[in-house]
Amino acid sequence: LLLIVLSPHIFLKRSSFLAMVENSCKRLEGKVAIITGGASGIGASAASLFHQHGAWVVIADIQDEPGQALAAKLGQRASYAHCDVSIEADVLDLVDATVAEHGRLDVMYNNAGVLDRNFGGIIDTSLADLDRVLRVNLYGAFHGAKHAARVMVPQRRGCILFTGSNCTAIAGVATHTYAASKQAVVGLARGLAAELGEHGIRVNCVSPHAVSRTGMSGLGKLSEDELARVDDGMRVIGNLKGRVLAPESVARAALYLASDEADYVSGLNMVVDGGYSVVNPSMM
Ligand code: NAD
Repeated sequence: LLLIVLSPHIFLKRSSFLAMVENSCKRLEGKVAIITGGASGIGASAASLFHQHGAWVVIADIQDEPGQALAAKLGQRASYAHCDVSIEADVLDLVDATVAEHGRLDVMYNNAGVLDRNFGGIIDTSLADLDRVLRVNLYGAFHGAKHAARVMVPQRRGCILFTGSNCTAIAGVATHTYAASKQAVVGLARGLAAELGEHGIRVNCVSPHAVSRTGMSGLGKLSEDELARVDDGMRVIGNLKGRVLAPESVARAALYLASDEADYVSGLNMVVDGGYSVVNPSMM
């Protein structure tokens, strides 16, 4: 008899419990996130995952077609904006348009990046080669952080994320220009974590090893010659029990750092490489 009396009650409680679980699974519910380099690879994975977790995502890239297609596929709560992160005015407009539409900005994921195509040694590297990489990887990250901070400081909250590389933890897995750009990004993240903490803004970096299925390390665009000169560590190889690092795994690390679960995590360079940089000390 007791069970019959209580069963609707139990049922209601169970359904509200399930709704609660479902909501708690939406780890970015109501947040507004910009993801640069969001049309492809890690950025596209992060856009899909953040969206799945309830965020409004603004996919920013220079590849308009795949960027628009991804925004259309995600549907509501997703949009695409053309933005060349190496151009400050583009980033300024991106942030202002996002805030004009949504009233705020919670997550700025500075993920756009390029790989150095010149795999020669430093003697064969020109300042123009270095500059081409820095303009996107470092200046782009700087522009994103600067204009995010411009709106996050008055908000008194926000999360700034960067994509580094595990070449920030281990030498010899990337070219010197690319490694220099990513070390600078980690320095930027740490410096900003110190500077912006008092404004309630967390700043972190996700640093993956070679990732499969991205435009950058799909490796399909490289010639055999170029491939031969890429260090083994930069190839798409298994890092953890023979598994290849997928962009989704990197996106999940970014999701954690973007979410309130990481509300006291700042200044971290989270290396996502299955322990590669730890188990290859010979390369240090
Ligand atoms: P990807 O080529 O698939 O994605 C990079 C995206 O950045 C592309 O959509 C590209 O159009 C965009 N982009 C390039 N220049 C831009 C610019 N000036 N303005 C705006 N967007 C621009 O490669 P990915 O592997 O997904 O790379 C994402 C990030 O991960 C990069 O910062 C990269 O350096 C970093 N990373 C990649 C690997 C890897 O093995 N793929 C490893 C470590 C770090």
